[in-house]
Amino acid sequence: MLSAIARSVGSNSVAPTCAIAGHAGSWGRFKLGVSMFTIRLRVAILGVILTASTMMSGCNPGSEADAASLSDASSAAGPDAFAEARALHDRFVTLDTHLDTPVHFSRPGWDIMQRHDFFTDRSQVDYPRMQEGGLDGGFWVIFTQQGPRTPEGHALALDHGLLVAMRIREMVARNHEHFELALTAADAQRIVDAGRKVVYISIENGYPLGTDPRLLETFYRLGARMFGPVHFANNELGDSATDPSGAEWHGLSEAGKAFVAEANRLGIILDASHASDDVFDQMLELSATPIVLSHSGARAIYDHPRNRDDARLQRLAEHGGVIQMNAFGAYLRPVQQPPARITALRDLRQEFGSLLGMSPEQVAAMAERRREIDEEFPVDYPDLDDFMAHMLHVLELIGPDHVGIGADWDGGGGVEGMWDVAAQPRITKRLIAAGYTEADLAKIWGGNVLRLLQAAEDHARSVAD
Ligand SMILES: [Zn+2]
Repeated sequence: MLSAIARSVGSNSVAPTCAIAGHAGSWGRFKLGVSMFTIRLRVAILGVILTASTMMSGCNPGSEADAASLSDASSAAGPDAFAEARALHDRFVTLDTHLDTPVHFSRPGWDIMQRHDFFTDRSQVDYPRMQEGGLDGGFWVIFTQQGPRTPEGHALALDHGLLVAMRIREMVARNHEHFELALTAADAQRIVDAGRKVVYISIENGYPLGTDPRLLETFYRLGARMFGPVHFANNELGDSATDPSGAEWHGLSEAGKAFVAEANRLGIILDASHASDDVFDQMLELSATPIVLSHSGARAIYDHPRNRDDARLQRLAEHGGVIQMNAFGAYLRPVQQPPARITALRDLRQEFGSLLGMSPEQVAAMAERRREIDEEFPVDYPDLDDFMAHMLHVLELIGPDHVGIGADWDGGGGVEGMWDVAAQPRITKRLIAAGYTEADLAKIWGGNVLRLLQAAEDHARSVAD
């Protein structure tokens, strides 16, 4: 049923989401009246939301094939060091805190149990590549594009959020021998020991929940254990780091503060990744348990609002929190794209629309055209050095108890040399080279975020008694 709905909405197309501006424009085409609230319209608009999120992976300039993966394998020290790093991943739980992969779950013919290739499929995570890269799982995201802040907009967004939660659970149910829903911190090790992949659920953008903190419990019961109140734009809960109109609430709204309390009561980790500095500061002060930046970087390395300054990162650590390092190229360093490239990519999106509605053949055709554009208009895209510059800086600043990885796979993440989850032992390899121990790596790759979830659970239990 879910896939049938998704198929029916697949033909919608929408503007790209690469820019960090808001996306209210894509809603403007729909004049919503209560009388028009047929399922069909809801589903059509849902398609716009889903489409926008699916196109995220189109923001990467991409590259000519995975030359970097070959360069690692072909250098003298490469294969052994990579294999050594990969082998370490089997010795501890490895989690990424921001997997946008649910955007692919409703694509016709897309199966998480099949191995895909980023350069022909535009996806970055599936079971075979998780095996290859030694990733045990992570937080699979219910992402909702920010839309109109009206009762109708919130109702549609709520439908969308519930649908994605169902889609994640449907994926687990279909593949229950290989994936399992994780609800407690202790579940991760147990699931890994059973030979399955770990599926925690997180929420990116509280927009579907409107101003009603009770809805957080609905999502908690569906499995959500991490909650980020905002995305690219301000909403009823607080300010975004990237809303072009600037601060609206100067932090969290009253509703946003109520959500912080409710997340604490339930045992949900609070995520300040897309939030403004003021929201970050207030969340840090208000939350009864340590907070996370599920996919962020260091402003000291690249001065971008999506990254955090050193003083805030230090306060995050003092409060027991964790920053999970983001591999979203445009937040790692400035990337100049020639205007002709931007035009070509826009035309490509207009021609093909959403990945959601494309057959595997259409996806392959789109990806081929994309490769041609990458060849004709190459960009100097950030690479693993740029990613590691952020990570090593933060590790130096606040230490391995407060750093993890949230690469933003399937949400725009990926750098030259690391285009999918199969390549991530390269991070481990670099960390080993920088002198980090196996105990450090175990914390970075999962121990730290599990400590936060445990703290959230413990607090919830203590206030329930
Ligand atoms: Zn994000």
